[in-house]
Amino acid sequence: RTPGPGISLAELPLRPELVGAEPYGAPQLDVPVRLNTNENPYPPSARARAHMAREVERAAGSINRYPDREALALRADLAAYLGFGLDSSNIWVANGSNEVMTHILQAFGGPGRTVLSFTPTYSMYPEYARNTHTRYVTAPRREDHTLDAELVTAAVAEHRPDVLLITTPNNPTGTLTPVKVIEEVCERVDCLVVVDEAYQEFTEVPEDSSLALLARFGRLIVTRTMSKAFALAGGRVGYLAAAPAVVDACRIVRLPYHMSAQTQAIARVALAHRGEMLAQVQALREECQGMQEWMRRAGLEVVPSQSNFILFGRFADRHGVWQEILDAGVLVREVGPEGFLRLNAGTPDEMRAFREAIGPILARPG
Ligand code: PMP
Repeated sequence: RTPGPGISLAELPLRPELVGAEPYGAPQLDVPVRLNTNENPYPPSARARAHMAREVERAAGSINRYPDREALALRADLAAYLGFGLDSSNIWVANGSNEVMTHILQAFGGPGRTVLSFTPTYSMYPEYARNTHTRYVTAPRREDHTLDAELVTAAVAEHRPDVLLITTPNNPTGTLTPVKVIEEVCERVDCLVVVDEAYQEFTEVPEDSSLALLARFGRLIVTRTMSKAFALAGGRVGYLAAAPAVVDACRIVRLPYHMSAQTQAIARVALAHRGEMLAQVQALREECQGMQEWMRRAGLEVVPSQSNFILFGRFADRHGVWQEILDAGVLVREVGPEGFLRLNAGTPDEMRAFREAIGPILARPG
């Protein structure tokens, strides 16, 4: 028995919109092969880890003090990594792009405001909206999951959002939206345009980014993360690039000292070792492309992906298939349109384990 008077959630004065809500998150199961959260399967090298340990130890020497509230050194490093003439005044950083997106909606969403995104898409967006009291509306993507300026501007005309949210490559479909489309949208709408480029480094031409448009559009925000290509999911570092005024807005709503000294230190080490941290991106991209071809040959329906994950189906009983793959020691994600599952690229051994796990299912008649 747990100590305390014993009270259930139903007896607590929970905000009405939270009643019945479940905490978000994919299952964190202890299985040999985990391919369900689009992580990078390669940990940092011993050299990078030793450097992280040294810098965390150095940070501990002044851990009695609050960290740099503005995270200026880290923001300068992120600006240098992105290029495009950006500097620290263009960059905002937080604990994962989840928190960055929350800051954006705290600053620019809120009661009476609307955020619009295009489904199927990342399942956390409605939660950021709920938590910031922002109305969340969606419009469907084209049948093939692509977006074009006509579809986006028509949805903007219909819903009149304050914030438009475009994910490219999109999660869970892996679909790229060309920079040309983002450019046309920025020319034709006057709301804030947030482009979530969490998986940009995995695309065929990573430099082909909406970052190139920032010099022309003051209401454009590009978000990125160190969780995927940078193999730093556990470090919790996401960031945005935008006009300095957007950064100033985020600075108003953030909690003071939101980035711990250790997080700032580790992120800076990862950036200093970026050659190595990003070294597996190409290999993961190839693994992902190879798996798409294998799946097609195996008769599966595959959404063409420009990312490190694949949406595949179509299964009459996707939960049953998910469970059967899990029973064989491989965890994939039950997400996206009915009948589909999502798998992220792992090591060659992990990809082999997946092929072996799904083999018997594909061999079954019907
Ligand atoms: N955006 C997209 C499209 C994502 O898929 C994810 C992670 N699954 C995130 C943002 C959040 O990443 P993080 O908070 O780890 O930076």
